[in-house]
Amino acid sequence: MSDPNQGYDVVILGSGSAGYACALRAAQLDLSVAIIEKDKLGGTCLHTGCIPTKALLHAGEVADSTREAAQFGVKAEFSGVDMPAVNKYKDGVVAKLYKGLQGMFKANKAITFINGNGKLTGRNTVDVDGKQITGRHIVLATGSYSKTLPGLDIDGSKVISSEHALKLDKLPSSAIILGGGVIGVEFASAWKSLGVDVTIVEALPRLVPAEDADSSKMLERAFRKRGIKFKTGKPFETVKTSETGVALTIAGGETVEGELLLVAVGRGASTSGLGFEEQGITVDRGFIPTNEHLQTNVPGIYAIGDIVPGVQLAHRGFGHGIFVAEHIAGLNPVPIDEAGIPRVTYTEPEVASVGLNEDKAREKYGDDAVKTYNYNLAGNGKSNILKTQGFVKLVSVKDGPVVGVHMVGSRMGEQIGEGQLIYNWEAFPSDVAQLIHMHPTQNEALGEAHLALAGKPLHAHA
Ligand SMILES: Cc1cc2nc3c(=O)[nH]c(=O)nc-3n(C[C@H](O)[C@H](O)[C@H](O)COP(=O)(O)OP(=O)(O)OC[C@H]3O[C@@H](n4cnc5c(N)ncnc54)[C@H](O)[C@@H]3O)c2cc1C
Repeated sequence: MSDPNQGYDVVILGSGSAGYACALRAAQLDLSVAIIEKDKLGGTCLHTGCIPTKALLHAGEVADSTREAAQFGVKAEFSGVDMPAVNKYKDGVVAKLYKGLQGMFKANKAITFINGNGKLTGRNTVDVDGKQITGRHIVLATGSYSKTLPGLDIDGSKVISSEHALKLDKLPSSAIILGGGVIGVEFASAWKSLGVDVTIVEALPRLVPAEDADSSKMLERAFRKRGIKFKTGKPFETVKTSETGVALTIAGGETVEGELLLVAVGRGASTSGLGFEEQGITVDRGFIPTNEHLQTNVPGIYAIGDIVPGVQLAHRGFGHGIFVAEHIAGLNPVPIDEAGIPRVTYTEPEVASVGLNEDKAREKYGDDAVKTYNYNLAGNGKSNILKTQGFVKLVSVKDGPVVGVHMVGSRMGEQIGEGQLIYNWEAFPSDVAQLIHMHPTQNEALGEAHLALAGKPLHAHA
């Protein structure tokens, strides 16, 4: 390990999923590390993203199970949601994980954690509140923030962002959610389960527009059944707030009303005012383009996580962080295939995918070269036990590997790990068909879909 007085091997700006993963891996590789954080170690995912939203969704699932208990012959009475108690549970999960992460960093002598506001002032230097921190390599990991649209001011009470939404001690009786992407539909799902009357407004033609069109259709069907309202293909035009609520006008003149409006129109990269452009780093619409080694255009400076164009996911950040630490250590890691990063939307039902959707596969390989198979969960034992609906859709190259796995249904998020191996190891349908999947499980649906695509369906039609 080099002498920190001579500067660190690696200086990381931002300690979210990407930054802290980079620090931990770099330390394992005997590099000296300084990591700078203006807020809390762990960043968005731990404090205001993945973890608290999934806790909220789980509380919603418990509420739904209680309401629906009679369907399974269980006597239970749903008498309401105690939001302060839900928040206590959610915050308790975050606090425990935060403590664990802090403990890991404290115990790691190769890592210096610096609390403060960092600004890049040279190719090897970050200024932290007047103190110069230097390093042989700089890693930018400053993450992202909730965006809004022109004419739409987030006031934190009637018009809120996801950060505000996670702090509500009283849920509204009705809400509008602007944006039908992952964050918007997850809040819609959780809030509906917790008793809110929800309407989603999405400018693009379908919910979760980045997913396969069949997955969007299935989620929309499930949401309709659950009483979650949505208006797609309708950009927002104006918003009016009053004492009692919010009225949102959408294209065509229709007005949607609710007690509050959650703005979930995407996340911008936190890169402005941090000295990046002054040091010659290319910034494109806020994001920092990199090569396949996650190097910016300035030698010695890397960018990782949400500030790099692509899917904004915590595990992508972890992957980026590990990759860059290994690259700096000279290990020559394999570049990350963006399409091979699994994606899960934790709604009820869940939407999960990896690889290419059908449209993209047809674009890439040509119509004649692509084969798909859609295995309906109606044929799956565990899905019937859970009373969930959905599918496993496979997209493959004819006589070639599976290039896309798309799934909708309860607990299907947990199954995408296998989909990731199938896609990234370029498995053929017959390779997977010979593997035996446990019965009765949701995972078995993946096995059934591959059996069918390999020409030997079991509980399905060819
Ligand atoms: C509501 C919500 C739900 C989500 N759910 C999921 C999910 O279920 N699964 C999933 O994979 N992803 C989810 N995400 C996305 C995930 O949170 C992000 O992809 C991930 O946090 C990105 O990590 P990052 O390290 O790039 O950035 P961040 O986690 O944003 O971390 C950046 C850090 O840098 C710090 N920083 C910024 N500027 C400075 C500065 N000048 N000086 C010092 N420190 C600075 C910030 O304080 C922050 O701690 C969710 C996001 C949101 C908002």
